[in-house]
Amino acid sequence: KKLGIALVGLGGYASGQLAPALLQTSHCYLAGIVTGTPSKIPVWKAKYNIPDKNIYSYENYDQIKNNPDIDIIYVVLPNNMHAEYTIRGFAAGKHVICEKPMAITVADCDSMISAAKKANRFLSIGYRLHFDPYNLEMARLGTAKKYGDIKKISGGLGFKATPHQWRLQKKYAGGGPLMDLGIYVSQGMCYTTGMEPIAVTAQEGKKTDLQRFSEVEQSLTWQFEFPNGLIGYGSTSYDDDMNFLKAEAEQGIFELTAAYTYNGLKGYTPAGNMQFPLINQQAQQMDGIALSIKNNKPSIVPGEMGRRDVKYLQAIYEAMRTGKRVSIKAD
Ligand code: NAD
Repeated sequence: KKLGIALVGLGGYASGQLAPALLQTSHCYLAGIVTGTPSKIPVWKAKYNIPDKNIYSYENYDQIKNNPDIDIIYVVLPNNMHAEYTIRGFAAGKHVICEKPMAITVADCDSMISAAKKANRFLSIGYRLHFDPYNLEMARLGTAKKYGDIKKISGGLGFKATPHQWRLQKKYAGGGPLMDLGIYVSQGMCYTTGMEPIAVTAQEGKKTDLQRFSEVEQSLTWQFEFPNGLIGYGSTSYDDDMNFLKAEAEQGIFELTAAYTYNGLKGYTPAGNMQFPLINQQAQQMDGIALSIKNNKPSIVPGEMGRRDVKYLQAIYEAMRTGKRVSIKAD
């Protein structure tokens, strides 16, 4: 049986990526929606054949508890709402997938993990790149030391952000491009090296647009210190275009020059270009998570990983604010 997913929040990502991907999945399907915008309902009903009984508002969302069609709730709301809707999802007895960043504080992540445990349900984070062949190849080459030890690792993700959206408001986003985009770079450096940083230094970039970036950083660079002395150089921006993950190893460089996109990824190794079949990252991700739930196992992108990453992001912000080296404690 395919597991039924209900998408909570029908914004850009849910409508542009997740719902279309759910037409291609084998272990799950789009069973329901939760929305605060009634005008979206007829469009979604028609497009995805969703019965009225599987359509909820934010007010009657908790009643999803009584709906056996819904096995998994997928929270695709602004970052500050992830914790509440995840916890309510567990209270309704469902499994939850929550978009990245998992939450805007580590304390919220803790509450979400506790709620999952109490409900005896699984929590996963919407980390699509853990299901992407190019990024998996970076992790494989790095952790197998295919080209020897990595001597330097770096990554960057940025683009021009349009003004006045929740992403530029601290209350909703929890921060700027680091919360939204830098999280991928932090992740990339960890899965490519197979290591967790023990300390970080960070610098806020110059604000050239004080109006747009009155609440959050416009850009940010940081340096992760790994246990073996390796330094990871990260950067993120809502103003500059960048999209790469680069490992400089003893016997050559392996890298992605389009690293975090939905498709069109590009990778190079000393042995030649990476070439992988075209896949739908979101379909792979949701199928992977659904299959782990069917097998009664945690997914490869559990809440604990989401929490770890929020902890790193908070350490980066602390280093940026204080100008000091901030150590990161292992849990
Ligand atoms: P969006 O602004 O397009 O959609 C947000 C949705 O939340 C909208 O439907 C909006 O109506 C709803 N919403 C409910 N209450 C709201 C409120 N008080 N303020 C603002 N919106 C409210 O955003 P998005 O791009 O779809 O992002 C949603 C989440 O998905 C974010 O956490 C983001 O980080 C994540 N995301 C992940 C990926 C990925 O590749 N994994 C890509 C894009 C977005």
